[in-house]
Amino acid sequence: MSTETIFAVASGAGIAAIAVVRLSGPGCAAILQRLCGRLPRPRVASLRSIRDGDGETLDRCLVLWLPGPGSYTGEDSAELHVHGGRAVIAGVADVLVALGARPAEPGEFSQRAFLNGRMDLVEAEGVADLIAAETAAQRSLALRQMEGGLGSIYRGWSERLLAVLARQEALIDFPDEDLPEDVLRAIEDEITALGHAMRAHLDDNRRGERLREGLVFAIVGPPNAGKSTLMNALAGRDVAIVSPTPGTTRDVIEARIVLGGVPVTLLDTAGLRETGDAIEAEGVRRARARAARADLVIAIDDASAPGMWYEASDETTGPVIRVVNKVDLATTAERGDHAVSALTGDGLERLRAALDGIARGLTDRAGPPALTRARHRAAVGAALERLDSAMEAEWAELRGEDLRMALRSLGRLTGAVGVQEILDSVFRQFCIGK
Ligand code: GDP
Repeated sequence: MSTETIFAVASGAGIAAIAVVRLSGPGCAAILQRLCGRLPRPRVASLRSIRDGDGETLDRCLVLWLPGPGSYTGEDSAELHVHGGRAVIAGVADVLVALGARPAEPGEFSQRAFLNGRMDLVEAEGVADLIAAETAAQRSLALRQMEGGLGSIYRGWSERLLAVLARQEALIDFPDEDLPEDVLRAIEDEITALGHAMRAHLDDNRRGERLREGLVFAIVGPPNAGKSTLMNALAGRDVAIVSPTPGTTRDVIEARIVLGGVPVTLLDTAGLRETGDAIEAEGVRRARARAARADLVIAIDDASAPGMWYEASDETTGPVIRVVNKVDLATTAERGDHAVSALTGDGLERLRAALDGIARGLTDRAGPPALTRARHRAAVGAALERLDSAMEAEWAELRGEDLRMALRSLGRLTGAVGVQEILDSVFRQFCIGK
């Protein structure tokens, strides 16, 4: 438990009708008593006048007294729902500092909640993601994570791994020739099953990470095909410069839009063509590089003057859809996947619906909770490597060590520390028929 009492305006910057000042730490009760005369009833909103050290009234507002350990942070906490003007907030902050509290560091409330065992690391990340969520789909992903959906998968694996490890360690006492075959087989079956579960979790097309981070769709094609016009049409505003002069877009221009409930960064790139102009050539190089890393390439060509289609290279990671533009000017035998006129809007509805579908497909929200961060991927990957190595280990001791390392990787994931302590307590009671 921390010894310091912290506070922060939890409701964001700027003038508002109400601002919520949040406090946490051992000094909360004393501070509240000094501010409002006596402690309000726990967990009930009470209307109080709050006063500074000279007895001058700062505000009349709702006060919440939230004693630990049943609070968000697990510590004694309080909320002051003051009027959201600058002078009120500054006055309250001054008094809180005078009474021994200090401004909180970023994330410090959630960090205390984690340190006090109120949530695991994965749930704490869910809180941060919920606050940052821009779309409904991101919100539900974060909520699921915050409510423990993802963490419970990892904890479930940890518990199973611990049970396997306990059995494995018990085998160390057996001479090689007496190893109980059925126990050995059960251990190997369980390691294999856990390995399958982790592999399936990792092999998810990055759907959770993609939804959390947002997608990148790159529009590429020859100069003048209408890339900027299409970008502006999809974004519903002018972000890119439309010009009849080829080679106008030299750097990558970005616009954030929402497709299928997913935030998508659209990239308008330099027209792909051979060029002697060094700046334009650099633009073309960047265009190819960004397209290769995009979640989707929207390859576009001009129906009235067909150029070259974007060719996926070995580095291209996402799918490519082909859009023939300027169908108001000409019809072409080369139809691509979509025929549109970015200028008149013809075919754009259908293209947008297709893009919605692709965005949804890339972030598929059905099924079990998906990992949402590279940190999760690295830790599960490391645990899986150890399981694979455990299956190949020739000695019980080595296999035990692999399993322990796998457990530690999962422990780091949820922030469950003290794996060794858990093991010790397990082994004190554990013994298999010998
Ligand atoms: P970019 O170089 O690929 O980005 O192409 P722009 O979006 O700058 O467009 C080049 C020219 O084509 C501009 O004069 C646009 O107005 C025109 N243009 C773009 N899309 C269409 C379309 O669907 N139909 C017609 N007729 N002209 C278009």
